[in-house]
Amino acid sequence: MSELVKEQQKFSLMLGLLLVHIARETDYRVTLGESWRTPEQAAANAAKGIGIKNSLHCERLAQDLNFFRDDKLVPPPEEVGAWWEEQGGAWGGRFGDPPHFSLAYGGRK
Ligand SMILES: [Zn+2]
Repeated sequence: MSELVKEQQKFSLMLGLLLVHIARETDYRVTLGESWRTPEQAAANAAKGIGIKNSLHCERLAQDLNFFRDDKLVPPPEEVGAWWEEQGGAWGGRFGDPPHFSLAYGGRK
């Protein structure tokens, strides 16, 4: 099995734990945002200044999450981003993309 597939499996399990953490330990609720992205979509986004051409979404190593509190869409909370980082993940809140939760790979986040 390739190193990438092992990382994808690790990321998928980490994401499941993140969702359980949010459900059990916070007042936030989430919906899934963008997950897998084609290289063509990533390139089109990058041309518009959204994300990067070499996005980890193309590698199945990133998930965007929409956070809600009291039925309102809110910015992703720092406490959840910090928890994700403690588990070994990378959080987009550190680089201007707060909905983005990923597992760093190949020097990308
Ligand atoms: Zn993202």
